[in-house]
Amino acid sequence: MKELLENDAATLREKIRSRSVSAEEVCRAFLDRIEAVEERIHAFCTLQPEKAIETARAIDAKISRGETVGPLAGVPVAVKDVICTRDLRTTCSSRILENFVPTFDATVVRKLREADAVIVGKTNMDEFAMGSSTENSAFHSTRNPWDLDRVPGGSSGGSAAILAAGGIPIALGTDTGGSIRQPAAFCGIVGLKPTYGRVSRYGQIAFASSLDQIGPMGRTVTDCALLLNQIAGPDPKDSTCSTDPAGDYLERLQEPVRGLRVGVPEEYFPEGLDPEIKATILTALEHLEKMGVIQERISLPHTDYAVPAYYVIAPAEASSNLARYDGVRYGARRESTGANLVQMYRATRTAGFGKEVKCRIMLGTYVLSAGYYDAYYLKAQKVRTRIRIDFDEAFEKVDFILSPTTPTTAFLIGEKLESPLEMYLSYIFTATSNLAGLPSLSLPGGLSSDGLPIGIQLIGKPFEEETLLKTAFGLEQALRFRDTRPLLPIDH
Ligand code: GLN
Repeated sequence: MKELLENDAATLREKIRSRSVSAEEVCRAFLDRIEAVEERIHAFCTLQPEKAIETARAIDAKISRGETVGPLAGVPVAVKDVICTRDLRTTCSSRILENFVPTFDATVVRKLREADAVIVGKTNMDEFAMGSSTENSAFHSTRNPWDLDRVPGGSSGGSAAILAAGGIPIALGTDTGGSIRQPAAFCGIVGLKPTYGRVSRYGQIAFASSLDQIGPMGRTVTDCALLLNQIAGPDPKDSTCSTDPAGDYLERLQEPVRGLRVGVPEEYFPEGLDPEIKATILTALEHLEKMGVIQERISLPHTDYAVPAYYVIAPAEASSNLARYDGVRYGARRESTGANLVQMYRATRTAGFGKEVKCRIMLGTYVLSAGYYDAYYLKAQKVRTRIRIDFDEAFEKVDFILSPTTPTTAFLIGEKLESPLEMYLSYIFTATSNLAGLPSLSLPGGLSSDGLPIGIQLIGKPFEEETLLKTAFGLEQALRFRDTRPLLPIDH
């Protein structure tokens, strides 16, 4: 069954549909792989093996009865634990939601079920998606399959790590400042943050509502397109979701890229950028030129202000979104006898939230408070507008932008825990897209000399995910990284 694991989701669904393999066999193969690697990777918060097998069997039964099945029939999928799954624990990797079992599905999860995908479990993350390494999970740190002493990135670290370890063909992540793309880069997989409004956020536990977006993660560009096809599109339950129908991203994947114009912003190649990362981007650029893509120099002059603006706006929204975890409306209540309401709130929030979450709530409350609002929050919003204008101007000249996804490769577990600023800076190239609401994709470009993956980022115009996907598809063929996998100790 080991060969089954090598298939991408697009191949698996064909094999299952044509009955050359059953959904149950596929499910068992991936569950076995998860069992073998999970002890070392710690990618999951919750697994539901029995339920997954039961779903797979039901799909096999449908197929043998000759009934039509959905586009992801029998394909195993993992879901980041910030996305609500009916009857399946959804913790946000937080103590405060440790025993929260939603009574409803997020829209994306409903769509996965309608597509006949098999949900195997919920992946680990930084608590409430605040972090860049998965070390902020209240439960355990996830490890990078390329080097078990290193972080997988975050906050969608569990999804990225289990993909890289071959335990799942596709997974969902969320991206508020780079949380799909940075772990995708660190783990050598593909991840796409769609345009703000392309995918419904209904049932995604909110961190920063004007920045959050759910997106596909996979080992190939094709699989990301396949998964995006299922989750994209209007949703009356999310008023920020675009009412324009989504396109067919798979169908347009092989369209030629000749004649497209790529912009290379000088600000994304600062002094001190890891030379191997720079070289990887330049190689990608050469491949693009061979494919007929025309290179233009562009400038995004407000890039340096993105991280400071992000760390005002995101905590401000978080401080408001997280007010609901008070032990009354949401969250595991802590009480001591004789405590009044305020004491109960304090005990609940003190015990329920981790350090980083508390820090964000305090930051957010501070920048929104009277007397500081104009100096911080309003100023950050103005910067956000400037950043969007930078992109608008660049997109008058080019069709998409090419840059590194991260300034370094995966760092060591514990390395940046004492220096939050350095941790925050690992998002320097990604947070801009969230502030401007743009689609962005990270694609593995190769390995560094110490064997760690390097990510290439493509940033697109609003709602032009297909440009990113078809360009990434072309690059994937040229770079030939697609079948490179980490060798885990159990694989020797
Ligand atoms: N690392 C960033 C933060 O901690 C972004 C996280 C995210 O995209 N969810 O806020």
